[in-house]
Amino acid sequence: MIEKIIRVLLTAALLGGSVAAQSTIAPTPNSTPPPSAAPPTSLTPSNIIPGTAAPPNPILRFAKLSPLGDSPDWSKLQAFAKTMTRAELEAALKEIYTDNSTLPAAWRIEGTALLIQTGDPAHPEARIELESISKPPSESTRPWHRVTELQPIQDRPLLSDLHIALDPGHIGGGYGRIEERFLSFQPNEFIQEGDLSLVTAQMLAERLKALGAYVSLVRENSEPVTKARPATLREAALKGLREAGFPDPKEGYDGLTGDAKLLTVQWQSEKLFYRVSEIHARGNKVNTQIKPDLVLCLHYNAEAWGNATSPQFSPQNHAHVLVNGCYSPAELEQADVRFEMFHRLFSRIHEEEIPLADAVAEGLLRATGLPPYIYTTPNARRASANPAVYARNLLANRLYDCPVVYLEPFVMNHEETYRRLLAGHFVGRTLIAGRLQTSAVEDYVRGVVDGLVAYYQKHRKPL
Ligand SMILES: [Zn+2]
Repeated sequence: MIEKIIRVLLTAALLGGSVAAQSTIAPTPNSTPPPSAAPPTSLTPSNIIPGTAAPPNPILRFAKLSPLGDSPDWSKLQAFAKTMTRAELEAALKEIYTDNSTLPAAWRIEGTALLIQTGDPAHPEARIELESISKPPSESTRPWHRVTELQPIQDRPLLSDLHIALDPGHIGGGYGRIEERFLSFQPNEFIQEGDLSLVTAQMLAERLKALGAYVSLVRENSEPVTKARPATLREAALKGLREAGFPDPKEGYDGLTGDAKLLTVQWQSEKLFYRVSEIHARGNKVNTQIKPDLVLCLHYNAEAWGNATSPQFSPQNHAHVLVNGCYSPAELEQADVRFEMFHRLFSRIHEEEIPLADAVAEGLLRATGLPPYIYTTPNARRASANPAVYARNLLANRLYDCPVVYLEPFVMNHEETYRRLLAGHFVGRTLIAGRLQTSAVEDYVRGVVDGLVAYYQKHRKPL
């Protein structure tokens, strides 16, 4: 039990609440609970070895940063002063962004102002004035466009002027094994999520371009976007382990399993590389170079498959779609995470993101025939009437400064799905596991296209 608690706290602290949060592999009863299931306390050695540390300074408690996170510039929120009503702010926090924990928040609303703890003793609070009527900021204040701000279609293709970035989840190629996204049930065959997501993005890009969209791929091959590598992140990993109360961690994980593996410098360096640094680099590329109206994060889900060298099939198969939200109090103690949440909230990204996610989820469920995945863990919450749409605080959907629809169809270690995925992308039907079946990649692509077409047909100005 102690080991489990250590693991949860370590996971939350070392990876910014986004280890389990970023891993979209569905939990099983034996797996580690998500960080938000942990006691929402700050991670200090005193949590692990009770009674060894002094009580924390209440201001510095909110000064922590997520791994590889930067100190936020709180003055940037002033751009949103007098744009939102108190009722709008409270509703967004209650219905989307928080997990509705009853623990004290790192902010308060006083009259017509929001006061957020900054963690900076020199300026402990950021004050954002609210307004008595809703005055959404103009489109010139942000890089992305709402559907209602796009030029009328007139007689052009439906997605004309829309810039969509496709983000193929993970890296794949030679990185699939350390990413723990390599799956093989026979010596001469394997699938990797990072390879499948890239093929899916390439297929989807062609379809969306044919509908008039301008499409960018956040990753175009099986190489990392980040320039960092596990070796360059070794010091950061070691520092994280020491701050978490492990002064002398083991270096390599060869021969180790379970929690012992997790507490090595090697495992932590690799995690920082492919899960944290990589997503930061993609966030930087999306926000400073691509500047799209929408990002689609393309993933394939999995149920826990046990040991990678002898994985298990799962009878489960399902789909779900994620939007940003459901921040836990422990995550919100980190200053950068807190800033990013309020920046998204005041940017009103959710107003575009959630209806878009609903439409895409509807298309995806119909095209794949999959049932919605039902979360039973506190790190996710329903975000709309669509049973497949959930809010979660993932690094990607938090950092990308525009609406993000994060897709999680198919369980890769569902036996029939695995066999369909081995066959990759093909048109029509082929004999798989004794019956004629369509390509899972093709169904995925068709579902996303159908969902986007339905959304833009419904909401875009025709003339
Ligand atoms: Zn994934």
